[in-house]
Amino acid sequence: MSRIIAVANQKGGVGKTTTAINLGAALGLRGRRVLIVDLDPQANATSGLGVENSGLGTYELLIEGQEAAGLVRETGQPGLWIIPSRSDLAGAEVELVPMMAREFRLRRAIEGIAGQYDYVFVDCPPSLGLLTVNALAAADQVLVPVQCEYLALEGLGHLVNTVDLVRRHLNSRLRVAGLLLTMYDARTNLSQQVVDEVRKHFPSTLATVIPRNVRVSEAPSHGLPLCAYDPRSAAARAYDQLAAELLEREEVAA
Ligand code: ADP
Ligand code: MG
Repeated sequence: MSRIIAVANQKGGVGKTTTAINLGAALGLRGRRVLIVDLDPQANATSGLGVENSGLGTYELLIEGQEAAGLVRETGQPGLWIIPSRSDLAGAEVELVPMMAREFRLRRAIEGIAGQYDYVFVDCPPSLGLLTVNALAAADQVLVPVQCEYLALEGLGHLVNTVDLVRRHLNSRLRVAGLLLTMYDARTNLSQQVVDEVRKHFPSTLATVIPRNVRVSEAPSHGLPLCAYDPRSAAARAYDQLAAELLEREEVAA
């Protein structure tokens, strides 16, 4: 059974793209088939996997209604494919507005191919606009990266509201897969305070915590996920542990 997971948080720089790439790659290495849909005009997931971001991709998928199968590209990583993005997608936020069933463009576009993958991760832009709403309307679950820093909880209420609205009006099967704590710095008290506070407010917070690690920021410029760039780094191991946590949950649920 395939799972469609939107990686969303309207705050930028919290680790959405890093999580889509590295969790996806870790699941691929564990023998799963994974598709990343890059729904951010900044195309960081695309470039971070070394895929050229000038060709056809999510813009054509959403706006022009092109077949998803023809837009899927290989990443060079085992079990990992991507529908790339490029800057033109920024226009889609406006171009979607007058469209019929505008919230369901992504769902309709990928429903035919989702079954070929165990996991589809939709990497959302840093906003709660129509692109993110399309991701939430298409998804079974939403995974919310939260940076371990001051004011981490700020804005989460707004995101939770959006998820509730989408669940009520557009997609009753949507549920929160969990909050993922990212960029944890063991040297600061602040990081631990944030972890405690987020866990207190959100019991669905995942057990795995992603440490702050310089290798994470280096890997994208090589076009590689961490498991290929530096598999022994603390962050690569954390993302593999996160993959194990997700798989374990599913066994429990099954
Ligand atoms: P988003 O997609 O939410 O905007 P990114 O995943 O692009 O966030 O991460 C923002 C920046 O933080 C990037 O430069 C990324 O390399 C860096 N980053 C993300 N996670 C970590 C981490 N665990 N350790 C160090 N740097 C990180
Ligand atoms: Mg991003």
